[in-house]
Amino acid sequence: MKHACKRVSQLTSDSFERELSLTEKLQLKLHFAMCGLCRNYHQSLKTMEEVFSHIRGHDLKQDIHLPDDARQHIQSTLEQSVLKKEK
Ligand SMILES: [Zn+2]
Repeated sequence: MKHACKRVSQLTSDSFERELSLTEKLQLKLHFAMCGLCRNYHQSLKTMEEVFSHIRGHDLKQDIHLPDDARQHIQSTLEQSVLKKEK
């Protein structure tokens, strides 16, 4: 992994935990423009985050109940697709 990619993947995961600064967001955008790997990585994380916040949202409202094994299956499937793209 190139140095720039390492930095970007760190920022990518940070972006789900905190608000990135303008400079950091710009760094990501610039890097995504030229690096498809990091773009895919970011996209996978985003999809995963969306799926989980959706599930969490439903849990709070108790509209649906997703069994633990189904939840684990979704999680491992998503994690595997992220890992595959990372290579
Ligand atoms: Zn990259």
